[in-house]
Formats: sequence, C-alpha cells, structure tokens
Amino acid sequence: MVRIGLEVHCQLATQSKLFCNCPTQPAKPNQNVCPICLGLPGSKPKLNERALQFGIKAAIALNCQLNRTFCFSRKSYFYPDLSKNYQITQYELPLAWSGFLRFKGKQVKIKRVHLEEDPARIVHTSVNGTKYTLLDYNRSGIPLLEIVTEPDFQNGKEVRQFLEELSSILEHLEIFDPNREGAMRVDVNISAGGGQRVEIKNVTGFKEVERVISFEIARQEHLLKLGMSIAMETRYWDPLTKSTLPARKKEVEEEYGYIFDPDLPRVELSEELIKSIKQSLPELPEARVQRMKAEYGISEAEARVMVYKEKALADFFENCCKLYPNRSKLAHWVVVDLLKCLNWHKISIKQSKVTPSGFVALLCMIDRGEISERLAKEVVKEYVNTGIEPEVLVKQVGKVIADEAILKSVVEEVISEHSEAFKEFKAGKERALHFLVGKVLEKTNKRADPNVVRRLLAQVAQ
Ligand code: ZN
Ligand code: MN
Repeated sequence: MVRIGLEVHCQLATQSKLFCNCPTQPAKPNQNVCPICLGLPGSKPKLNERALQFGIKAAIALNCQLNRTFCFSRKSYFYPDLSKNYQITQYELPLAWSGFLRFKGKQVKIKRVHLEEDPARIVHTSVNGTKYTLLDYNRSGIPLLEIVTEPDFQNGKEVRQFLEELSSILEHLEIFDPNREGAMRVDVNISAGGGQRVEIKNVTGFKEVERVISFEIARQEHLLKLGMSIAMETRYWDPLTKSTLPARKKEVEEEYGYIFDPDLPRVELSEELIKSIKQSLPELPEARVQRMKAEYGISEAEARVMVYKEKALADFFENCCKLYPNRSKLAHWVVVDLLKCLNWHKISIKQSKVTPSGFVALLCMIDRGEISERLAKEVVKEYVNTGIEPEVLVKQVGKVIADEAILKSVVEEVISEHSEAFKEFKAGKERALHFLVGKVLEKTNKRADPNVVRRLLAQVAQ
C-alpha cells in the first residue's frame, strides 16, 4: 500500500519578517536585511504579532488544537543559507496539532502546524563559464507556516487536490499570496508497498508535486518487484531528467540537536485573542462554492472555477452580481470568456484592468442588441489588458486603423524588435516586407491598414 505524507511550507503574507522589522516585499538582492535576519552577534529576535495571528487563523481553519502556551526552538545545522547555523522553528511545543481537512469527500489528518523562519535563497549561476553560488538574504526570516499531515494520501492526484484546497483556504484567510513565486513549497514523504520512507524535498507547483509522486511511486514499486529494498533517504526532483535523484541519507530529527531558544520568551495565548480570531474568520472556499451556487443559481462547477482559480475572481463575480441581474449569463461570461482572455494575456484578474462596472456595461450592450456576442468577445480581449472602457473599444474594435500617428509607433516597435528583418527589407527583400507588415497586423489585432504600414516602413527605411 502506498502511503504519502506532506510537510507544506507556506510563506505568510505579513508586511515584515518573523523576528525583525525588515520588509518582505520583493527587492534587489540583500536589500531587506538587518543584524537580526543576518544573524549578527548580539542581535535579538522579537516575534511578529501579525505572523502569530496569521498562524492562529490557519490553525483554526484546519480544525487544529491550539497550544495555549508554546515556545520557539533552534534547529542546528550548517548550511550557507542559514546565517546563524540554526533555524528558529518550533519543535516540542508547536503552535497547534491534531487537525483535519476535508476536501472532495476525503479527510486528511493534520499532525501539526508551526511557525518558523525561511532561510536565505541560494542562487546557482555561472558568469563567463565560472560557476558561482550567490546568497540572497532578503528571504532570510520571512515567516513560514509549516503544515505537517499524517501519511493519509495514496496518490499524486489526492495530494494535488489537497494543496489546491489548502492554498485557497489560506488565500481566503488573507494570510497567503499564491501568486508569489515559491510561496508554497512541499516536502513529500512516500513509502510504497511497506518499504522505507523516502523524502523528496522542496517541490513547488501543484502539477509538479503530482508528477514527482507518480515518478517516485513507480520507482519504488519497480525496485520492490525486482526484490530490492528501498533505502530511507532524501531525494530531490530534477526537472531536466524528470526523475528523483538521491541527495543524502535521511537524518532523523534528533540529529538536529533542538534546544529551546533562550532569546524568545514563551508565548501565552489568551482566550480573548483566540475568541476574537475565531469570530473574525471569513467564509472558506468550500462553503463559498455552496453559497454562490444557492444564492445566484449558478452551477457548482462554475462556482468552483471562480472560487478556486483565484479568490479575486469570485470577488469580481460577486461585485458584478450587484450590478447585473442575469447571473447565469454573467457566470458564463466570467468563467468562459473572461478567463480565456486573462489566460491569453497570461495575467490574473488582480493584474488586469477590468472593473465590474465596465464588464457589466459590455453585457448590457449585448442585451440591448447594440453589439454582437462575437464583437463583445474581441472587446473583452482588449479590455482586460488595456483598461480602455468597453464603450470606447466598441467604436474601435473591428475598424481599420489608418491613422499614421498611431501606426507609426507600432511600426517603430516592430522595427526595433526585428532589426535583422528590417535590414533585409532595406536591402530590397520582398519577403522581409511581408514579414514586417504581418508583425504590425499581429500587434493591432489585424486592424492596421497594410497600405499605410508599407508607406511608413518605406519612410523609415529612407
Ligand atoms: Zn531583518
Ligand atoms: Mn520546516
């Protein structure tokens, strides 16, 4: 029987780090540092109250028991990403323990939830053929919530579904930003057929986690079939060969020589604090799907896509609902057409410039018979990216652009992006001309007047 357990590290979306005041926002390498997160002698850590509250929120949402009093420990090991030679984490007395999460008709037990600091980021690079290892301490001290599950999973698909649920819950609690790179990193423990436990460290991306698990189950089952035993070890995922490779023999927790951190006092949680956090807990994704289905009469599948794709997408839909009565039409346009355009531009709803009032205005134009659905779809594509109001876009989309001033800037852009082709065009190559005109048409959704484009190209070439 296959048994899979997870250790999930989630970056908490606080403004400052776990034990100092350094900001957590992206910055140039080694900008967000101070004596505390650099581990300089004499510096003293101080617990970030927000991070603690975020941890409590997550623990309650994961149905955990909270420890009323707990402490921080030092996990000692040497590694260049760890300036103090120990990581401040929680060991004997974690923040919370013994919870569970239900998803897709399954229940997974949560063993423990604790707070710890992120180590620095190691960047392997090469300059002029010489290999370098660089260290960025901006990440050093960013608060992590570590969630450890029991080995309750049997395959990669269950794990992916669990991680999607977990990510959406943390996003709805507003303590986690899933769009941030490396915001969720997973250590996977797998044992197939009663063999030893193999740990695969630091996998990011839900699909990647699923891939890693499928590979590792197959590898272990193959070895067992050949009558070989499986060593207890740590492996890592190599994206190039798409396989897991041995990293080191797995050490046991005792070898880290945990000691209580004498710089940090024990934390006592008051009943009032826990009560106020419990009362302020927002609606969680699964409940939201059911409510949206009942309240707006949309299908469960549509509600699910909006809620789990990105919390902001469900927020967007609900804001549109206040302005537009035909909810099933609205849901269809959000789930099918809006999402398609966002994916096309590779942006999220948060990054896009679409507003509920603008989007609803467009649907109203269809209802009044002013525009066709086909034209509306083209408008959405330009709207999400440019933020130009649909009323304005409707007048533009589909119309030929012959305005020299507009086209000139596009032509110049194309020339700078394809200087080789432009040289060939100047040398009189017909094919290069077709190519450049094609690029201008591409950039203008096929609306540029080709004759004007040819004239402009000839002008610049002179
Ligand atoms: Zn700092
Ligand atoms: Mn950890």
